Amino acid sequence: MSFSADAIGITILGSTGSIGESTLDVLSRHGQKFRVVALTANSNATKLFQQIQTFQPQYAVLNDAQAAAKLRADVNAAGIDTEVLEGHQAICDVAALDSVQYVMAAIVGGAGLLPTMAAVNAGKRILLANKEALVMTGSLFMQAVADSGAELLPIDSEHNAIFQCLPINTQQSSTRGGNQWQDRTITQSGIARILLTGSGGPFRETPVSELTGVTPDQACAHPNWSMGRKISVDSATMMNKGLEFIEACWLFDARPDQVEVLLHPQSVVHSMVEYIDGSVVAQMGNPDMRTPIAYGLGWPDRIASGVPLLDLVKTGGLHFEEPDFQRFPALALSRQAMETGKSASIVLNAANEVAVEAFLSERIRFTEITEVIDDVLQASEWILPDSIDIVLAADEDARRRAQECINRLK
Ligand code: NAD
Ligand code: MG
Repeated sequence: MSFSADAIGITILGSTGSIGESTLDVLSRHGQKFRVVALTANSNATKLFQQIQTFQPQYAVLNDAQAAAKLRADVNAAGIDTEVLEGHQAICDVAALDSVQYVMAAIVGGAGLLPTMAAVNAGKRILLANKEALVMTGSLFMQAVADSGAELLPIDSEHNAIFQCLPINTQQSSTRGGNQWQDRTITQSGIARILLTGSGGPFRETPVSELTGVTPDQACAHPNWSMGRKISVDSATMMNKGLEFIEACWLFDARPDQVEVLLHPQSVVHSMVEYIDGSVVAQMGNPDMRTPIAYGLGWPDRIASGVPLLDLVKTGGLHFEEPDFQRFPALALSRQAMETGKSASIVLNAANEVAVEAFLSERIRFTEITEVIDDVLQASEWILPDSIDIVLAADEDARRRAQECINRLK
């Protein structure tokens, strides 16, 4: 497809993933407004080649060198003049190009941290799907946004919903980042609480005694959303909601007691903001990530996303319930990590990534995911992560300890 030359340049970090593909679907509807400058992925040369054929970006990057060599040969044979690059540094570089104004941060996990930070430091509009990057770095991330003049738009559906429910001046201050813990912007905006909704995933009603035997495919079969495997397992343990709780505190400068998790099995209300006058403002829609992606691309305007309009009559009832912390220990662990501060959220995230990977490759049971995280957290000493190098060191250390814990379980 062809893009207009004066269109906004975009880099997509993680273009072959679930969010990456949804982003390209939205962009394909707006060739006059946006131009794909760079696409990046880990190792899927086949899918990236298909995307290159359609979107003809200036650059395509694969993390894996062997896969990049195959992609380069395919691109050359097809006579396409996309430059194929390889490796982690090249992914960071295309996130910071002068010809790029917007960066979709949709790499999964801690692997997305440095590319996302490269885009932040280069002052881009950051469409943040990679919640792990913010969970790991918290105040460093928010300060880097403020220092560079970047613009932060949440793409995670709940945070995008919360953002949509904010007054415009509060929206503007949240996009500018910073750490305003002293002046409490959300209180000044008349906000009493943020109500973060979650479906409860595939095991909301499964007897707790059966959870030890569930398989990776069962855990990845989310009732409402189609997503990558890591976030699908996170949704099943509700660690996803735990990470989102931490994400909400940072994005909206909220104290942990100002964010409440609420189960809502239908995934129609994507989150809510409760104001001191008794008003509760909600954002609703079909569970399709193209809505928050289009909102982040268009903000403060609205652009078409391809998502069908919500049929409220067909939707029927909307239910809300309190989460069961016994069934979902990840929720309590996340709240504790946020309250503990320092390196606790880094350890939580790292141990979770290692444990989820072990579960997906059938080395540990489903219920052992949160046991591993709990063990690693209990044995941790907290440090103040006041630079990215310290964050990366704490992350690496926690990953190693999570692996040791998994080896002991076996
Ligand atoms: P996914 O697994 O479908 O895709 C991940 C992408 O990251 C792929 O393009 C992959 O090639 C790339 N990648 C993985 N490891 C990499 C590495 N080491 N170096 C470079 N690239 C690498 O994941 P997803 O479901 O699209 O999720 C992406 C992010 O968005 C996650 O942080 C997730 O929490 C967040 N998110 C996803 C959804 C959703 O609906 N899928 C919703 C909200 C937030
Ligand atoms: Mg979400």
